Amino acid sequence: MICENLSVREDGQLLFAGQDTAALAAAYGTPLYLMDEDRIRERCRTYREAVETAFDGRGRVLYASKAACFKRMYGIMQEEGLYVDVVSPGEIATARSAGFPMERVYYHSSHKSDEDIAYAMEAGVGCFIVDNTEELLAAECEAARRGITQAIVLRLTPGIDPHTYEAVATGKVDSKFGFAIETGAAEAVTRLALEQPHLKLEGFHCHVGSQVFDSDVFLQSVDCMLAYMVHVRDTYGYTAAFLDLGGGYGVRYVESDPTIDIAENIAQVGAYVKAQAAALGYPMPEVAFEPGRSIVADAGLTLYTVSSLKQIEGYKNYVAIDGGMTDNPRFALYGAPYTVVAASKLNEPATLTCSVVGRCCESGDIIQENVPMPPSIARGDLVAVMTTGAYNYSMASNYNRVPRPPVVMLRGGESYVAVRRETLADIVALDN
Ligand SMILES: *Cc1c(COP(=O)(O)O)cnc(C)c1O
Repeated sequence: MICENLSVREDGQLLFAGQDTAALAAAYGTPLYLMDEDRIRERCRTYREAVETAFDGRGRVLYASKAACFKRMYGIMQEEGLYVDVVSPGEIATARSAGFPMERVYYHSSHKSDEDIAYAMEAGVGCFIVDNTEELLAAECEAARRGITQAIVLRLTPGIDPHTYEAVATGKVDSKFGFAIETGAAEAVTRLALEQPHLKLEGFHCHVGSQVFDSDVFLQSVDCMLAYMVHVRDTYGYTAAFLDLGGGYGVRYVESDPTIDIAENIAQVGAYVKAQAAALGYPMPEVAFEPGRSIVADAGLTLYTVSSLKQIEGYKNYVAIDGGMTDNPRFALYGAPYTVVAASKLNEPATLTCSVVGRCCESGDIIQENVPMPPSIARGDLVAVMTTGAYNYSMASNYNRVPRPPVVMLRGGESYVAVRRETLADIVALDN
């Protein structure tokens, strides 16, 4: 199994976090998002301990909440002592209503309107991660109007190719995110930021991409960012106390994906930053990581019920399920791989190759292709998709007016609803 929280009982039933997935489907209905809270906490602790050790207590872990965002997640992050990244007033409002301390919030996004900026400052967001010059000037204006000094960090693009999907590669020079170091844009905005009386520049940020397996990518980021920081110090006399290296560590969706040892990787980055900073005569900055996917992905599993098996002689076999791109758009978006199984028939040989397809009126509504299924797969059977904890619920939509599934948390052998199922009344609630 691709994660240790998955196992199979002798009768062929899939267990998740030690719990019977068929019993959970019966109790809560399908489609159903399950989240293993114990696994989320374990991942948080792994990151926190690794960062504390690697940076002698001067490191921070920021959970990138866009990976899975609902109130309960912020409660868990607060209890685990993490900081969080947010990317919109909606995420700020969610964190706020969960009682998450606003000073521990970093506000990202390449789009922040005047209203968004005012909302975030009103909420008391700790730090803005500034993406563009217009935002910098608008933030200065709003901070001046409020008579406050707002902490900021500048998002830079170090020009590194992380070898991942094009849609989630974010650190190249040609990117909608941040300021390129190579073109001089970073230097120009650094100068401008230092001149703003109501903004306090804490340091610099980069995030080169997501689902990255190549640990060298982080070391390259360190090289590039430290070289830039030295240049800024030597030219403008500004020493940055904070360096945010972003998120992006990859997770296992399928057997062929490697396992990344987070503790080992962060120890390596820590040793590298220390050595390079010492070699350059630069005071060791506080270093931050922003994991999203690698905190929650394998803590998630989605259950569906099969509605039909269509075997098209000479072509493909289609297993249709009661969810699809509305609850998991990632295959439709990037052809993302997933491990898919018949959750109650794991004792039967899976000899029938099928496309597992969703309920939406699009041929592209596919969860996964070339899935081995038992030939007995039939209406009413359960299908499980593994590793759905990141970018599934948070990317869900109501296309075809399909209600979004609930999020049920599993903890210490118990379960509880963290987000309830949408109803048909919810579906029409906004319509005049
Ligand atoms: C999405 C994002 C992350 C998290 O990436 P993961 O691949 O989920 O770890 C971190 N930082 C920024 C700026 C992001 O946009």
